[in-house]
Amino acid sequence: MRFSQRIFCGQLTPEDIDRPVVLAGWVDAFRDHGGLLFIHLRDRSGILQIVFNPKVVSAEVCRQAATLGAEYCIMVGGQVARRLAGTENPNLETGAIEVLVTELEVLAPAAAPPFAISEKAMVAGAPSAGAGPVDEDLRLQYRYLDLRRPAMQERLAMRHRIFQCVRQFLDSRGFLEIETPMLTASTPEGARDYLVPSRVHPGSFYALPQSPQLFKQLLMVGGLERYFQLARCFRDEDLRPNRQPEFTQLDIEASFIDEEFLYELVEELAVRMFAVGGQTLPRPFPRMTHAEAMETTGSDRPDLRFDLRFVDVTDVFPGTGYSIFRQILQRGGVIKGFNVKGQSAHLSKNVLQNEYAKEIAPSFGAKGMTWMRAENGRLESNIVQFFSPRELEELHRRFAVADGDVLVLIADPSRATVLSALGQLRLHMAARLGLIPPGRLCPVWITEFPLFEAAEEGGVTSSHHPFTAPDRTDFDPGNIEELLSLKSRAYDLVVNGEELGGGSIRINRPDVQRRIFAALGLTEKDIQERFGFFLRAFEYGAPPHGGLALGMDRTAAMILQTASIREVIAFPKNRSAACPLTGAPSTVKREQLAELGLLNLGGAETLPGVARQEDRLDRLSWVSRIGMTAEERPGLAAVLNEADQLAEQAARHAGPEDPVYSAVPVTNRTRPGTEARRSPFAESGQLLNNAPAVKGSYYKVASILE
Ligand code: ASP
Repeated sequence: MRFSQRIFCGQLTPEDIDRPVVLAGWVDAFRDHGGLLFIHLRDRSGILQIVFNPKVVSAEVCRQAATLGAEYCIMVGGQVARRLAGTENPNLETGAIEVLVTELEVLAPAAAPPFAISEKAMVAGAPSAGAGPVDEDLRLQYRYLDLRRPAMQERLAMRHRIFQCVRQFLDSRGFLEIETPMLTASTPEGARDYLVPSRVHPGSFYALPQSPQLFKQLLMVGGLERYFQLARCFRDEDLRPNRQPEFTQLDIEASFIDEEFLYELVEELAVRMFAVGGQTLPRPFPRMTHAEAMETTGSDRPDLRFDLRFVDVTDVFPGTGYSIFRQILQRGGVIKGFNVKGQSAHLSKNVLQNEYAKEIAPSFGAKGMTWMRAENGRLESNIVQFFSPRELEELHRRFAVADGDVLVLIADPSRATVLSALGQLRLHMAARLGLIPPGRLCPVWITEFPLFEAAEEGGVTSSHHPFTAPDRTDFDPGNIEELLSLKSRAYDLVVNGEELGGGSIRINRPDVQRRIFAALGLTEKDIQERFGFFLRAFEYGAPPHGGLALGMDRTAAMILQTASIREVIAFPKNRSAACPLTGAPSTVKREQLAELGLLNLGGAETLPGVARQEDRLDRLSWVSRIGMTAEERPGLAAVLNEADQLAEQAARHAGPEDPVYSAVPVTNRTRPGTEARRSPFAESGQLLNNAPAVKGSYYKVASILE
């Protein structure tokens, strides 16, 4: 048997009957039928039954086969045969055939796996194999075994197909796939950075990218025009379900485009990606402004698979007889609600009052909740007696009330509280009452986000990131109120209440970008330090551009309808951002920390790396990568001091306009028009008098071995 003869289990069909074959894979399950041994052989393509029949195969091979266990890695040779009538297995694609084995080679035995991997029953009608749900951390600890499960393999194969679909489509639209650095400087996306200490620059750190934002914009300045990347991004955020500290984004940027270009592009792309999973996304995607989403659903990622839209009834109740509403309105409050159509049979007074009003609504931050049920053409509840006929009539009209409906109202002095509590109630009731139609997909673009949000510590922060274009540029960066009223040219793609991604048209004028930084409270020094390189790039004719990023783990999980994004990632972190397989994050040896300049080994006040940079001799030794003994230090210190004095003397004698002498002929590009003068000492050859070795006009030094 040779690997070159091997064919895949899932490839065989009844047309292959009588064909001699070589198969390789893992023992999925086995069944001993009094001398006849049946094995499910599994490879990536599927499962095939193989049979060890003493009438066909030698006693020696039969004996060896009897020692096989689950997950042994084996290779077999034999002949394809039709299964006996009545023994076909409808659980398997290959269930009509089997292979009668004549040769067996055990490639690698397996220890008993910590959980069942087999998913397919061996006989028709039997409950599916596999030992029920397995603890997720155990699955992640033995992920390589978990990955052997056909369901996991299928998900990763589908993820691959979705990624291929992205690549093909964007290529067809002229986008180039370009990689950007992983070891980089901080890119602000609102999370903390993962830092990587630099050994060769002690005390300095790289940041892993929160996104390729700055680089993709620089690619646009670089004239690449259309870029994409399936980029790994890293964000150190608080733990939340369905978040991973590292995740994959489809990152896109294009020049000379507007919002409409991106909407068309991403809609077409999303439709194609969902089609890979057999799902149809309805086009065109509707659009909703951020304000409308907040006012009608209480969320900037509204789930539009069901209605329960909010209606504002603040203006219905001025001077109302219901004192709670009256007091709230006197404090400038808001009253909003939604109609749960035809659900009064499922929302009893008891549930509404004792569960929702007393427990659930307060848990969502509301002080209370008002409810009414429509029966016999009238609204009923424990408080309707306080409402005037006009108020009740107006409620009827605004909510288009019919018998069987339930009205839910929240009133609060704070609009934000009303929106947030009602938004959570909306989702809670939809889920509880089964109002979410299965299989429905409701994409929506959310537009016109506020550019800034009020920061907790005063001032403003960017709602998206600071590179997003504002809707107008004539703002005063010092006027907080005006800043908070600005809208951005940002957009989010939301599907079924989940944000799949977002982006914006960017600022391409450095003066506007500077004013945004100033509005964010960055001083000129901060701006220079953090974004100087970026702003400089924008001095060189940056094209108008924009883009977006889609969370690919989330998108794949939605397309494949998995319970968590961890199901579509080969090696995810668990819910506490740890990897049960490798034990990461883990401690490291003190020596390693010391080497990175992160450990105060000598008890000095500062980190050793910083100290090394501050001491001139250490720095010299470090920069030149030449070790220095304690005895050599005083001599070198003296030489350095002498050099200092000479430099000072030279500086005193040289006027600012004096041309700098050069040892070899050079042109000074930074000072056009100035003549580069060669030093007279260089001209006469005197400059190199003391050189141990020279080549032409150059002083030869020993090369430094890395
Ligand atoms: N960099 C943004 C993000 O990661 C996406 C974009 O603006 O293109 O959310």
